[in-house]
Amino acid sequence: MSDATKDDALSDDLPDADILKALAPYMARGGGGAASLVRIRDIERRQLVRGDVVRFTERRTETQRTAFGTEDLSALPLYEGAIADHPLPAPEGPGKLTLIRSASYRLVPCPCDGGTQQCASCSGCGRHPCSCRNEPPACDVCLDVAPCSQCETTGRRGGRTTKARPAAAGPRATAPGAQRITCAVCGTAEAACPRCSGRGRIRCPQCDGRGHESCARCSGRGVGTHEVCGGRGSLSHWVEGTVEYANEKASLSLPRPDWPDKVRDRLAGAARWQQLDIPPGGGVPAGVDHEHRAAVSEHLARGTVELSRRVTLETCPLARVELVDEPNRVFYVFPGARRLEVVPTLSNQLKRRLIAAGAVIVIIVVLILWLAS
Ligand SMILES: [Zn+2]
Ligand SMILES: [Zn+2]
Ligand SMILES: [Zn+2]
Ligand SMILES: [Zn+2]
Ligand SMILES: [Zn+2]
Repeated sequence: MSDATKDDALSDDLPDADILKALAPYMARGGGGAASLVRIRDIERRQLVRGDVVRFTERRTETQRTAFGTEDLSALPLYEGAIADHPLPAPEGPGKLTLIRSASYRLVPCPCDGGTQQCASCSGCGRHPCSCRNEPPACDVCLDVAPCSQCETTGRRGGRTTKARPAAAGPRATAPGAQRITCAVCGTAEAACPRCSGRGRIRCPQCDGRGHESCARCSGRGVGTHEVCGGRGSLSHWVEGTVEYANEKASLSLPRPDWPDKVRDRLAGAARWQQLDIPPGGGVPAGVDHEHRAAVSEHLARGTVELSRRVTLETCPLARVELVDEPNRVFYVFPGARRLEVVPTLSNQLKRRLIAAGAVIVIIVVLILWLAS
């Protein structure tokens, strides 16, 4: 289609006379209302195109599957050879089919000991030596003070394994009024550390004094689950074929908007879009403008896994109009439900002037603040 016929087609949809009539009420001067007083400085028409293609697709894949132990696949249908060649009834809608390739199922015994193996963490002994090395750790409460205030003076050390330290200025047990209990070593009441009863050492909390801890990995059993077979002692292998049916939607909107958001919103809500019929072969309809034909053709292209499709394609003309007597505004005009819709916007010239005026105001305010300070 030549540019001349394109302009003709768009002019037919959006004639100058109708645009002038629609713009008359927006004229500030000239009384408003008389189309004959509207003088056009520039007018640019474009075609908007929007549409969806919903493709009903089929995708077939084949995967090697593995599972722990035996796997009951008896409920799944079988196929011979390649899944791509397997005949299937026409699908009713989106969904997924899972099939098994005939004679592909194998059950392989695992070389482990019936699903278990020696625990790698403790080498089969079921425990780990405790970090205390069987030595009771020092009491953390009386570490910096005497475990018992009397053991030193009475000279009875009993089972205490280390010499008590002098009562230095500790924060806890030496604080005025800190609680003391009867000493387990010398028997003096209210003399010993409440945690270790004057012994200076406590039972190891990690191993409860046993010197070793049970292995957490195997719970002390020395053997663990063989992870390769999940503890089942065997592995199943088979070939699975899947067929997936889906509706895949692709949307199109042309051209890329170079108009304000205000225009975009009104277009979405108020424009009268015209539905185009798609030719039987699926080509680009004659009503699509030259500017958009390549993109629409690409949008409508047939997919390799496509079984069927639903297509919607709509167009709407849009005019951008500048008027001689309205240099500060640009008007966007398009067909609405009953009449032409008009969206007035600020012209770039006015926007530049407003920005410049804003800058001048900022400079003046800064100057005033500077002078006042
Ligand atoms: Zn195993
Ligand atoms: Zn272990
Ligand atoms: Zn004591
Ligand atoms: Zn203590
Ligand atoms: Zn310990």
